[in-house]
Amino acid sequence: MLDTLHRIVQEVTRANDLEKALQLLVSGVREAVHSDVCSVYLTDFENREHVLAATDGLRPEAVGKVRLPMHRGLIGLVAERAEPLNLDDAPSHPHYLYIPHTGETEYHGFLGVPIIHYRSVLGVLVARQQQPRKFEDEEVTFLFTLAAQLAGAIKHAQASGELATLTRRSDGGARFLEGRGSATGVAIGIGRVAYEGAELSAMPDRRITDIAAERRQLLDAVNRVRDELEAMKRRLAGSLGREDQALFDALLLMLDSDSLVRRALTLIEQGNWAPGALRDSIEEHARVFDAMEDSYLRERAADVRNLGNRILSHMSGAGGQADARDYPEQTILVGEEISIMQLAEVPRERLAGLVSMRGSNSSHVAILARAMGIPAVMGVAELPVSRLDKRALIVDGYRGRIYISPTPSVFREYQRLADEERALSHELQALRDQPSETVDGVHVPLLLNTGLVLEQRTAGAADAEGVGLYRTELPFMVRDRFPGENVQTINYHRVISEFAPRPVTLRILDIGGDKPLPYFPIDESNPFLGWRGIRILLDHPEIFLTQVRAMLRASVGFDNLHIMLPMVTTLDEVDDALDLIHRAREELLDEGYEIHPPKLGVMIEVPAAAMQAEIFAERVDFLSIGSNDLTQYLLAVDRNNSHVAALYDDLHPVLLHTIQQVATAAAAHDTPVSLCGELAGNPAAAPLLLGMGITSLSMSSGSLLRVKAVIRSTSLPRARELLRSAQRCRDGDCVRKLMERALDGMGLGGLVRPGK
Ligand code: PEP
Ligand code: MG
Repeated sequence: MLDTLHRIVQEVTRANDLEKALQLLVSGVREAVHSDVCSVYLTDFENREHVLAATDGLRPEAVGKVRLPMHRGLIGLVAERAEPLNLDDAPSHPHYLYIPHTGETEYHGFLGVPIIHYRSVLGVLVARQQQPRKFEDEEVTFLFTLAAQLAGAIKHAQASGELATLTRRSDGGARFLEGRGSATGVAIGIGRVAYEGAELSAMPDRRITDIAAERRQLLDAVNRVRDELEAMKRRLAGSLGREDQALFDALLLMLDSDSLVRRALTLIEQGNWAPGALRDSIEEHARVFDAMEDSYLRERAADVRNLGNRILSHMSGAGGQADARDYPEQTILVGEEISIMQLAEVPRERLAGLVSMRGSNSSHVAILARAMGIPAVMGVAELPVSRLDKRALIVDGYRGRIYISPTPSVFREYQRLADEERALSHELQALRDQPSETVDGVHVPLLLNTGLVLEQRTAGAADAEGVGLYRTELPFMVRDRFPGENVQTINYHRVISEFAPRPVTLRILDIGGDKPLPYFPIDESNPFLGWRGIRILLDHPEIFLTQVRAMLRASVGFDNLHIMLPMVTTLDEVDDALDLIHRAREELLDEGYEIHPPKLGVMIEVPAAAMQAEIFAERVDFLSIGSNDLTQYLLAVDRNNSHVAALYDDLHPVLLHTIQQVATAAAAHDTPVSLCGELAGNPAAAPLLLGMGITSLSMSSGSLLRVKAVIRSTSLPRARELLRSAQRCRDGDCVRKLMERALDGMGLGGLVRPGK
């Protein structure tokens, strides 16, 4: 049964459209459980009906026509109760409903299971038998498992409007997909799927008009691979064993057998571009090998896939470096998991928005999007990535929504919002020369988070009172080995000198977690709870000392350097790290450098550190709260996992309570305490943080003026009053609503919601 299940799931997930997938599903199930009929009903939420979407056993013409009212009949009952129903004599059940135009005689045996995706019932999978039959337990769980696996595909189809065609009513353009609004703003543009170079399975579909050009592209690449293989074979002839030679022959044979190439050409003729067509053809051929009994032959599937990748690497614009012109004017970058590199590759003037299937507000790519002022929605679990290339898309970064091929009315509404946005950012410009001060004169320094992009001049530098967080990971991530002391010195010097005399806080390398280095592999099942940040650097003092020396050397001639330790959990870590920093300075002084003592601080981003904040505050010059990690560790929610993204809430009262504790602990020792997580850039949070006694806020450049607008519209007593109300809230939503109302009262509702 398990093999059958795998086979059906594989077939269904590989089918390129939902209709085909459902048909494969019902046929597979009917055969597996030996039932007379198997059907799928999908829920049409708008019309409150369950629609017959595929069947094996009933009349095919009934598909799309049989529509059952939402809460009637046995199908309605399965959907309503969201649990399976297994009856040996369906007609005697009080909910039984006879449906004439399905070609049904009387079916007695009935097994229906709901198709559920994230708590919502999307349809019902049902097997039926003319004779009375109670299905076995394993058969129930078999259908159950299939339904659970199918749910994601149905949700995809619903999102891309495909389901609307299947259920043949209403159009998909007014529907939207939901994720986490991770960088505010509205973007209207054209989808561009991000993929890693030369990985065929990651190639999206792309509709084309110039069929001849795509044919040429494919055939040229195939010819080049053939030449390459023949040359290799000749070169290695003397040194290859017979088996290896046979492998080359087999690959050449595959290329020449022409069924592989012919299939790809047919797919091109049907309108897909060469990489998409090649992907499908290769996959179909590889699958033949996948299904073989003989393990040697099964492994040949990998050869077929490798051959596909090799052909792909010879196609321009697909495997190699993308050309700037490959990006539409208003590119909405779409992907399963977009990396910082992929985002940085898009020419800035063409980048309008970002949508990622995985990740959340505090993924680094979201942080970068915010820094660049690019509206972003993360964690859109149902994103039908491969179908979004060149599709018109709207990204609503406020509400976390994506519209695919929007209707004209949705389009007009968002055009209006985008205009309002432009007006708002124009108004905010007036604050650039104004101090960041409350109405009663409390000064709240606003600092900049930077370092995620390598740039000559820091965006937003003129509007900030310094750098509160310089993430040093990027130069380590873009190389193939650790950068040396000199390279690092140049890099740090650039930012230290650009901001002097304003303070610059350089953070010690925080690798591990979601920032692995390609040349320093760490294989862990729980990377966020593993070898990360200061833990790695204390185990590798050579990396630590090189970095600290570079920071100190970069500060020669300036007196504005702050050094900050990430991921600190224990007091020993602080002591050991401070010792190493002092040692590095001593060494440099001995070498003749004149270096002012830097200010030293720790990040409070682990609950243990928050609880010991007072002891830390006594030892260091400053604390800085990393609310991104503090949220994930306090709430036990992976900051990059879209399945639990709804639970990731940095306005959760537990967070507010913890931040308050840290602020109080710092105040007891007169130690300044900043907040540099994404919460600092949320205008709705600013009064609360001010009320708690946080002494400065550090954020992405795009947030500076927004937060300043709020600071300048509030007073310390008002901030404290709002904090007291927030502390009575039971969850983050309550805090959010409270603060939205407060911002509305200040005339600043537009900062947190569009159209206000
Ligand atoms: C944080 O955790 O809040 C933080 C600022 O650091 P990072 O986002 O780089 O982990
Ligand atoms: Mg952190």
